[in-house]
Amino acid sequence: MDYKAERKIITGKLIFETALHIGSGEEGDWIDSTLIKTKDGKVFIPGSTIAGIFRELAEENFKNSMGDIYKLFGTIKEVGGVNQASRIIFCDAFISGEGKSGYRNGVSIRRDTLTSQVGALFSLETVEKPSFDFRLIIDNPHDEDMNIVEPILTELKSGRAAIGGDKSRGLGWVRLSSIQIADISPSDLDGFVDYLVEDKISFQGFSINKDKTYGNGNYMEIEYALMLDDMNALLIISSGIPGFSENADQTLVRDETTGKFFIPGSSIKGPLRAQAERIIRFLNMNNKDSACDPTDSDRSCSVKIKNSEEIKRMKEENKDGKEIANKIRELSCPICKLFGNGYLASKIFFTDVYDDTSQTTQKIDIVAIDRFTGGALEGAKFNTEVATAVNLKGRIILKDIKEWQAGLIAFLLRDWMMSDIRIGFGKLKGYGRCKVDLEKITLSWQDGNWLKDKVKEDNISKSGFYNSVVLEKDFLNLKRYEETLDRLVKKLKDEVER
Ligand SMILES: [Zn+2]
Repeated sequence: MDYKAERKIITGKLIFETALHIGSGEEGDWIDSTLIKTKDGKVFIPGSTIAGIFRELAEENFKNSMGDIYKLFGTIKEVGGVNQASRIIFCDAFISGEGKSGYRNGVSIRRDTLTSQVGALFSLETVEKPSFDFRLIIDNPHDEDMNIVEPILTELKSGRAAIGGDKSRGLGWVRLSSIQIADISPSDLDGFVDYLVEDKISFQGFSINKDKTYGNGNYMEIEYALMLDDMNALLIISSGIPGFSENADQTLVRDETTGKFFIPGSSIKGPLRAQAERIIRFLNMNNKDSACDPTDSDRSCSVKIKNSEEIKRMKEENKDGKEIANKIRELSCPICKLFGNGYLASKIFFTDVYDDTSQTTQKIDIVAIDRFTGGALEGAKFNTEVATAVNLKGRIILKDIKEWQAGLIAFLLRDWMMSDIRIGFGKLKGYGRCKVDLEKITLSWQDGNWLKDKVKEDNISKSGFYNSVVLEKDFLNLKRYEETLDRLVKKLKDEVER
């Protein structure tokens, strides 16, 4: 092992393509979870949060070299910044400029009645598309360290990562740009003194060594367009913060920078998860518990895991985290394995949906919804803003999915294209009914992934450590994919019947 008495400094800009939420753990006057800020009110990303995403990306991409990863990262604690055992130091990243603050609402919807769940309304404070200064220090680097750090930087550079809260519902998608690396060594006296005295560093740019091959992950991106149905009105609940707008009691969710309304990723995730549950129950009619209802407070996987005696015992016996994670996966239904639950990270992510054309909005009266209970306020008429949108575009991202999960996605896309889905508020009144059109499907995989032998396209390109290809839009109808889809659906049935 080569060991160097030096310090490696890596800097860059974390540029967010979506809003970001990193919770302070505190409630605000009207917000359930406020953003983490310095004493002077500056938004920042704690080093421990950045460490967490590095570690997550390392674990996703190098399952086979976990030993090296643990050596490099030491044991990063969830809270409390840098751990002594780690040679890698993630500095807190501070926001560039002021940052525009916003907020996101969530309503938990009951599957059986399609109505809001009482008391399940919550809101998050966000900062809209911010950028942050990134700095990472590795002391006494080993050669193997960069074998791990380089691909992670590449992943971040390619925008294949998200940071912070509510990632699966579209928040926190980030790209690391302007990456620069410098080595500071006591043996290069001039450079060392410049660094000590003036914090002056001569940096070099960062480029990937494309000859290296890594990992066995995959990454899929589905770009789609939504078209509104004949009702022509789309209604998305806004913050409900009083006094937010003088023009209406309730306004649409808007991008603070452009003033245009958008559909939060959460409003897409909910209906698609519900449809995926229907598919699983359809494939296994004999077992009505084959897919859980996440809002069921007695029988959801989250509740099952929380009450599991076996997991409690494993924790008491200080069992390896990996073993506990395996048990949690075992107790989760197929839907939770893809969409996540309180204990399992989601593998499917929904970005916000934007309309890039001119927008027309109007106001209508509707029965008011209580902000705190989610129920209708008796007799209260509500003045609300609705939008007519023509060109809504969104993305679905899938990370490291298995064959059976790809089978489920194929089913889901077919259902989505064949039928209307309803999104947003006022579904039962007929609002938010729309059709989807798949615009572009990009598959990326590392050499060890199952996709390697399943992709039937010729125009495969290299992107970072991934092979990438854009699928033909109607791949579901293509003869050459028949065999692959057949296999994926068989894998899905096996998983469901297990
Ligand atoms: Zn479940």
